[in-house]
Amino acid sequence: MKTSVIGFPRVGANRELKFASEKYFAGKITAEELQATARELRKNAWLLQKNAGIDFISSNDFSFYDNMLDTSFMLGVIPQRYKALCLSKLDTFFAMARGYQSDKGDVTALPMKKWFNTNYHYIVPEFDDSVDIQLDDTKAQEEYNEAKAHGVQTKVDVIGPYTFLKLSHFTGSKQLKDFSAKTAEAYKQLLANAKSWGAEWIQIDEPALVLDMTDEDKALFSDLYKIILENKQIKVLLQTYFGDVRDYYKELLSFDFDGIGLDFVEGKETLNLLKTGTKENCTLFAGVLCGKNIWKNNYAKTSALLETIQSNWKGEVAISTSCSLLHVPYTVKNEQKLDQNILKYFAFAEEKLTELSDLAANNQKAFAENKALFETERVAKNSDIASKIANLKKEDFVRQPAFAEREAIQKKEFQLPLFPTTTIGSFPQTQDVRANRSGFKKGTVSKEDYVKFNQKKIAECIALQEEIGLDVLVHGEFERNDMVEYFGENLDGYIFTQNAWVQSYGTRCVKPPVVWGDVSRRNPITVEWSKFAQSCADKNSKKPVKGMLTGPVTILNWSFPREDISLKESAYQIALAIREEVLDLEKAGIRIIQIDEAALKEKLPLRKEDWHSEYLDWAIPAFNLVHSGCKPQTQIHTHMCYSEFIPIIKNIDDMDADVITFEASRSNLEILKALKDNNFRTEVGPGVYDIHSPRVPSVEEIVNAVEKMKTYIPQSKLWINPDCGLKTRGETETVASLKNLVAAAKQVRN
Ligand code: GLN
Ligand code: ZN
Repeated sequence: MKTSVIGFPRVGANRELKFASEKYFAGKITAEELQATARELRKNAWLLQKNAGIDFISSNDFSFYDNMLDTSFMLGVIPQRYKALCLSKLDTFFAMARGYQSDKGDVTALPMKKWFNTNYHYIVPEFDDSVDIQLDDTKAQEEYNEAKAHGVQTKVDVIGPYTFLKLSHFTGSKQLKDFSAKTAEAYKQLLANAKSWGAEWIQIDEPALVLDMTDEDKALFSDLYKIILENKQIKVLLQTYFGDVRDYYKELLSFDFDGIGLDFVEGKETLNLLKTGTKENCTLFAGVLCGKNIWKNNYAKTSALLETIQSNWKGEVAISTSCSLLHVPYTVKNEQKLDQNILKYFAFAEEKLTELSDLAANNQKAFAENKALFETERVAKNSDIASKIANLKKEDFVRQPAFAEREAIQKKEFQLPLFPTTTIGSFPQTQDVRANRSGFKKGTVSKEDYVKFNQKKIAECIALQEEIGLDVLVHGEFERNDMVEYFGENLDGYIFTQNAWVQSYGTRCVKPPVVWGDVSRRNPITVEWSKFAQSCADKNSKKPVKGMLTGPVTILNWSFPREDISLKESAYQIALAIREEVLDLEKAGIRIIQIDEAALKEKLPLRKEDWHSEYLDWAIPAFNLVHSGCKPQTQIHTHMCYSEFIPIIKNIDDMDADVITFEASRSNLEILKALKDNNFRTEVGPGVYDIHSPRVPSVEEIVNAVEKMKTYIPQSKLWINPDCGLKTRGETETVASLKNLVAAAKQVRN
């Protein structure tokens, strides 16, 4: 059997791309130096795959920021306001990704959204009326040639036109249908060009095929590919991932694809589909090796699955990852601290290459070792936690009294002005903050000094917010490296890697903790910090300081989960732990508690018919469980960001928080209409400016945003805040932005 990898991590084994890009943004290296780093990283990735014996290796899976943005460039989908900056190609690319502010111009970044059910974010393509589709495949060509120069024949990987168009925004008078034919022509040309470079295969990624499809969608796909495949001279692999293609399987088989890539890991229906139809002269790229987990594959199970697949497919079968390996860390080799007895269960991107080869070659020695790994239980069960979960009653998931009554009680309790202002939690994580934390971790900073330093930071942060005039304060999160890792470190059942970084967006990577065993809380986690912060505020403004927690669904979704118990069980374990923390904060006099659920939407099944049974039916109750024990006076906030949450707006209301803040500034406030249409009950703070960009929003801009919000949301329910935490921002721009935010709030109140 041949082996195939859909895509490989591009940040590098030690996040070299991140560091080089950030240096470039800071003007410390040149574009050419950045390009040189990128070339080196690509070379390493190709050679690693080649040496592992992978047959189908991708080129053009690299990106300086995001492959959707690369596709926008490949097709010339560049809105006029970015073209008008007259920057180099690379800088135009970064302007679209990150915004741009200088004397040459001032533009915000394009919106960013979560990529299907992952924590990777793509830049949403924008078609304005100036867009005239023109193929520019220099990136694909250069990277293909580069690989070839290293002796690696690659398949040229591109995101497909159907997925690209389906995820795009159309802001002018022209709509999708006005661009589809020319888009198809561009891909057709790309196929011809790739052939002329010497490529044998092109891999066209169409993950949007795993979403629900309407008849119109089906017609669009078919119209596009009729043009693209006409007289093709190159082999085409139509690659899907993140689920099954249940709405379109039969039709897919009718196209002249030389390869079809299907996901047998997340695609629950894929095997059943296979039994309904097959295709001769077409290679099935069977995605049986999970591209998202960190666990070793169970060879016995997978090879049994492969046998079933082979007996149902008439053509050749190649063994593939289920999605790009972009979603897993680079290599287990970078882990020096974890015990061998733990590491032996892990397989990251590099190790997954070996697994592919072992499986394809039926390597008996490897099979025997693998079998031994799965013969014994990995961890012992904690019966105490199990019985707590088994004894949960319906009432444990319902907060009393009902929302409206609480809202009235809280209005009296807090006496906040109209349009209360607040922030999402973190303040800039300056160099000294990081140094203090890492020194404490290494043991070079004593516990006492560590605490003292953070207290000083908190006191300054409270004073700063008081000076700026914010209404509900935060302590600033200086003790946290990451909103999930921090809680993981303080919960039993979690373990941590040193270097298991995964790209989240652009240059930003996350290092998800690993749920290793049953989860429980050892000791109070945030209480001392929050108490201290409130005591600072009590000396002056007496304003409430929000307690700041991460919710159970987000903790789980941003961890590498166990695969030996259900997600529901893991979520309830974490919920019980965070519930204890909420009740302790309340006891310590904290009157407002924010429970972030930034990642709630992330694991929502891609098919509507699976939403409730597979996810919402436990995810929303897990959140309810966390705060149902609170007093009516205690105000519960939650926060969400960067996802299309309009479809689950009702479920978000059912989380029964008192206030929700969320990202809105980069999505043109489209969520406001949905809030109105659904009679959203929870008070809301739609972010008024984008925190992923260093640009400072003007007072006028914020006033305009709020004025627009007021037309959709009753003013008694409207909060004013940035759209996410400020930890990645610099201090100067943060202070300037927040001053403008408060000034804008005052202006609107007047
Ligand atoms: N409270 C967190 C912060 O401000 C929330 C971060 C997030 O939503 N991603 O950093
Ligand atoms: Zn956020």
